[in-house]
Amino acid sequence: MKKLVLLGATGSIGVQTIDVVRQHPDLFTLEALSAGRNISKLKEILDEFPVKKVCVQREEDAAALHESYPETEFFHGDEGLNVLASLEEYDVLVNALVGFVGFMPTLTAIRHHHDVALANKETLVVGGELINAALKEYGQKLYPIDSEHSAIFQCLQGNNRSDLKRLIITASGGSFRTKTREELKDVTVEQALAHPNWSMGAKITIDSADMMNKGFEVMEAHWLFDVDYDNIDVLMHRESVIHSMVEYRDHSVIAQLGAPDMRLPIQYALSWPDRFDLEQNEPLDLAKIGELHFEKPDVRRFPLLGLAYEAGRKGGNKPGVMNAANEAANLAFRNGHIPFLMIEDIVISAVYKSPYKEVKDVNDLIEANEWGLRYAEMMIRGDNHK
Ligand code: MG
Repeated sequence: MKKLVLLGATGSIGVQTIDVVRQHPDLFTLEALSAGRNISKLKEILDEFPVKKVCVQREEDAAALHESYPETEFFHGDEGLNVLASLEEYDVLVNALVGFVGFMPTLTAIRHHHDVALANKETLVVGGELINAALKEYGQKLYPIDSEHSAIFQCLQGNNRSDLKRLIITASGGSFRTKTREELKDVTVEQALAHPNWSMGAKITIDSADMMNKGFEVMEAHWLFDVDYDNIDVLMHRESVIHSMVEYRDHSVIAQLGAPDMRLPIQYALSWPDRFDLEQNEPLDLAKIGELHFEKPDVRRFPLLGLAYEAGRKGGNKPGVMNAANEAANLAFRNGHIPFLMIEDIVISAVYKSPYKEVKDVNDLIEANEWGLRYAEMMIRGDNHK
């Protein structure tokens, strides 16, 4: 029986993690969980699973919930997330938080000798070096939940790591893959949120539409699998059937395929090296799909993909600034404050304008994050087009 602490329980990955737990009550149990402000969804979860420790964003929600669930201990805020991550009595932290807020709980869990199943991609984007150092120091493991990284992780099983030549990360191209840059000028939030293949949270769906998400995934892959940026390629593949591939020194390419269902990478992160049954509504049926398509990504069409390689190679505070500027710009677009293409302007400008600084510890990351947020907010205020 694996005891889980689940952060971000009411989000898209959180809800699907709970479904994996529901399918395997004999294998997984929820020791503690966190939610943001979706209290009604949280109550549904607590009515089904009697979880002993829960963190919510706001103090007043924590107090009100304690009235309804007197057996449960409630925490709140970022500090509460760290309290859950530092608990003794669990096996794996499932980090399904969105944004830089996910970084500290990952580090805290590792420092308290816990393995982490990671869906929060910003953790490795901003602080991959610090996380890898902590994993080494404390002897813990990090299991990827992102579908691309889970695919790569699966393709690496049973082979010698030293025989690996390159990683091939597939990309659907998001909601706007058929639109020209001219057509992107006045796309709406609703259009951006309609991803053709995957049902995901709002932030990541927007990140997919401008391929910031794919850029993040290149950076994540660099840290997870210790592969140079020169040996990580992105391949457009609109069907999202091949979740990623690896090429070995003999040019043999191994791919992982499956229906676009995040519960598979979630479950594999928790079941590795074993595999468990997984009930799927529509398992992969290649005959039904018929054709698979591939093409090279156009970095002029998707400049944030190229920017991620650049920021990743430069390192230091650049990835942290990029991530923070993107968090602010992504949110501003979703709130209707800026047009879609301005997300790119803000993120690119922040990366180029930020003075380079080395990142030696968490404080340097926080500083990079604040710089990126401040810069983006200045651009959003100063150039409010709507
Ligand atoms: Mg992904």
